[in-house]
Amino acid sequence: MAKSEAAFARAQAVMPGGVSSPVRSFRGVGGTPVFIAEGNGCMLRDVDGNSYVDYVGSYGPLIAGHQNERVVAALSKAIGRGWTFGMPTEYETQLASLIISALPAVEMVRFVNSGTEAAMSAIRLARAATGRDLVVKCIGCYHGHVDGLLVEAGSGALTLGTPSSPGVPKAVAGATVLAPYNDLEGARAVFEKYPGQIACFAIEPVAGNMGCVPPAAGYLEGLRALCDQHGALLLFDEVMTGFRVAWGGAQVRYNIRPDITCLGKVIGGGLPCAAYGGPKKLMELISPSGSVYQAGTLSGNPLAMAGGMATLEIMKEPGAYDILERRSAMLAEGLIDAARKAGVPIALNRVGSMLTPFFTHADGDTVTNFKQAVGGNTAAFNRFFHAMLDHGVHLPPSQYEAWFVSLAHTEKHIEQTISAAESAFAAAK
Ligand code: PMP
Repeated sequence: MAKSEAAFARAQAVMPGGVSSPVRSFRGVGGTPVFIAEGNGCMLRDVDGNSYVDYVGSYGPLIAGHQNERVVAALSKAIGRGWTFGMPTEYETQLASLIISALPAVEMVRFVNSGTEAAMSAIRLARAATGRDLVVKCIGCYHGHVDGLLVEAGSGALTLGTPSSPGVPKAVAGATVLAPYNDLEGARAVFEKYPGQIACFAIEPVAGNMGCVPPAAGYLEGLRALCDQHGALLLFDEVMTGFRVAWGGAQVRYNIRPDITCLGKVIGGGLPCAAYGGPKKLMELISPSGSVYQAGTLSGNPLAMAGGMATLEIMKEPGAYDILERRSAMLAEGLIDAARKAGVPIALNRVGSMLTPFFTHADGDTVTNFKQAVGGNTAAFNRFFHAMLDHGVHLPPSQYEAWFVSLAHTEKHIEQTISAAESAFAAAK
């Protein structure tokens, strides 16, 4: 770790916390973040020469693994033609068409550069379309660091104990209404309290930023009906789940039609790329078709489009999601067994290739709400995390993040992970 430690010291002198995004700092789990020299397949090599099986996957985009050869070929081809023009390219139309072909609720998309931008722009669109100001978000869900959505947020904001942030004006936070996740009665109460004022109900259809928490049976259907009843838009933030939990995303897996969809992560294959989309009628309100302003110098960047296109083409092949499902199920079952052997109570939540072992006893074997998600033994998680790292497995450094399995994780890598977990659960006790 000597080189990582030295690298971290140098980084801390010039960047807040030594990182470009908070959760990377290991603040939650303690210790020094591992500085990465290279990623290949599902493996990482750090600057000290240690190797790790990677379950961070850059927090979701790398569903085809690091340096997938088809993605490398697509990027190499694109880079040889120049990498930004500020003018239209056919790459954008191609990726937009592929995305639209997978999502029945999406007829048009606008590309942006990050999930944060997608959520911010989607909310502007929802407000413009409805003429209403209030936005509902669920406690523990994360939609990027948009001022109005950084209220009771998950992910790094949760890990670091700052669910709301200084610098967010009261007036802006005041336009956000909170609802409990997976609680239809809670959602109904919010609509009843603010009749005719709610522009949209924004939700991660599978929560990923309090750890992975699937929607309860009937919950998403219930939200759809409530939005229709109250003239509000249903906004699915599928930045994490889009093309991750199914071809298309959670809306395909659960067969629900949102009004606006946010995408990111997988659709760029690991390059800066995100999008928001919906029916033509709504999307044509956006500038220059309509008057809702939203723009971006690097939006629809050719490299990002090429990386996203190559990644989605890999995922579109028959059987790709079945492989992910099988390997992820094998990992989940192995973790449950390993924890049981060590006598450590865990609840294992999984949707497709997103999973989180919570160091807690919850209803039966799964965590179904935010209160349970944050009610676990984070000290045990932190010990587990470090023991896994010592055994060559790099997990997301927080109890409140999902692990991501990629197509590059073979059965051998999963077995190696389960064997590491057997020791790590014992160390976590
Ligand atoms: N929405 C969700 C559901 C996310 O998981 C994230 C990032 N983890 C974002 C939005 C923000 O995306 P970005 O970090 O690209 O701004």
